[in-house]
Amino acid sequence: MNKVLVTQVEKAIDIWDKCLSIIKKEVGRSVYELWFEPIKPSSLDNGKIILEVPNRFFKEWIEDYHPTLISDVVEGHIGSPIEVEFSIVARSTPKIARVEASREKRKDRLARKGIFLNPKYTFDNFVVGSSNEFARAAAEAVSKDPGKTYNPLFIYGGVGLGKTHLIMALGNYIVDKRRNFNVVYVSSEQFTNEVVSAIRHSKTEELKEKFRNLDMLLIDDIQFIENKPTTQDELFHTLNVLYQNQKQIVISSDRPPMEISKVTDRLRSRFSMGLIADIQPPDVETRIAIVQKKAEAEMMHLPEDVIHFVATRVKSNIRELEGCLIRLGAHMSLTGAQASLSMAKNILKDVVTEDDRPLTVDTIMKRVADHYGIRVPDMKSRKRTKDIALPRQVAMFIARELTEASLSEIGKVIGGKDHATVIYACKQMKARRAKDDSFDRMIENLMSKLRQ
Ligand code: ADP
Ligand code: MG
Repeated sequence: MNKVLVTQVEKAIDIWDKCLSIIKKEVGRSVYELWFEPIKPSSLDNGKIILEVPNRFFKEWIEDYHPTLISDVVEGHIGSPIEVEFSIVARSTPKIARVEASREKRKDRLARKGIFLNPKYTFDNFVVGSSNEFARAAAEAVSKDPGKTYNPLFIYGGVGLGKTHLIMALGNYIVDKRRNFNVVYVSSEQFTNEVVSAIRHSKTEELKEKFRNLDMLLIDDIQFIENKPTTQDELFHTLNVLYQNQKQIVISSDRPPMEISKVTDRLRSRFSMGLIADIQPPDVETRIAIVQKKAEAEMMHLPEDVIHFVATRVKSNIRELEGCLIRLGAHMSLTGAQASLSMAKNILKDVVTEDDRPLTVDTIMKRVADHYGIRVPDMKSRKRTKDIALPRQVAMFIARELTEASLSEIGKVIGGKDHATVIYACKQMKARRAKDDSFDRMIENLMSKLRQ
């Protein structure tokens, strides 16, 4: 290495060392040791610092959780603007290199056009199973023939199940294939902000110009538009114009249109005019396939039992599944250890126990007491007034339904009663549920909340 280069590296190391100590204070020791300490600076030149990270997990984790921390700290230290670039030092397979390269190209294209799509979300890396195949097929059909097939396409489903991934995949596909297409992606919150700001600055014409002359509008998380009448009006007219011009509209939501209650009827009916597709929590086979695919993309070798462990423990949220893989991947690359079941159990102990803990009589008692606004000690006491006796019976009944505890265990926990008292309570509750609809619904509700 020539002398100039050596001093550049030295300078980078020097500055990085000082910045690390500030970052450590900012993020705390454990995060620092896991994510920041392994980073090595490789050059500092022309307003750009290049940092070497062991794999893509690091890059993505830092970009997701601390997007500006490093540049802020380095800038603060050297006193001029700095661009931070990560370079991944691990080797990669030709296939991964190809995916990386097309992602980089897409990223540039999106940046040039000012479209806020994450280039990493594609149809190729969206794993299909029975829980999401309908939504995925609908999105793909729309991507092949936008504006002509299903309009609007309305996709709904719970948190972390892939709605954003899917609609961004659709957007990315269009951006890749149709260079002249005018695509906008916004969350409904961003849309609201744009409406509010346009009104404040008397720029509603510009707003109309922007949103009504599109080829495709992707709106994420539409539920946040509830209770915002002005924004709803603007959206209604926007959707109308787009629809009439056969321009594609894609909407995501955490629930179906009928359950978005605080929007105008005409807007809700617009949502429902095309195709409505839901995404359900993935079954275990799909979860296994997702873990396999993500591990493969990261070149993480995971034995069958580890894949199975992760896929069976995290049930209802794909984002959490990914979180587990990130932790495992980081641990493996830092320690150089191969993944094993005992390692996975150990690394993921705080993540997965929560999900696995069986429901206890104590938890039930507490929830029922909360529901009735009484205190647990009262429920456990000898008091026999109606306001206490009823919740106590409800708790006994639910404990019988939802736990493995025996009658006498239930009786003992809920105030030192014997098993006959529990049998009696269960009978009473059954009888009342049969004749009192609203009581029945209330019990059903309580039980379904407890089951989660
Ligand atoms: P939502 O918008 O429904 O809350 P996201 O689209 O943000 O969920 O998904 C959460 C994470 O899970 C993302 O990183 C996404 O890539 C991943 N994910 C969700 N569904 C799938 C899938 N079917 N295949 C691969 N990854 C998925
Ligand atoms: Mg989302």
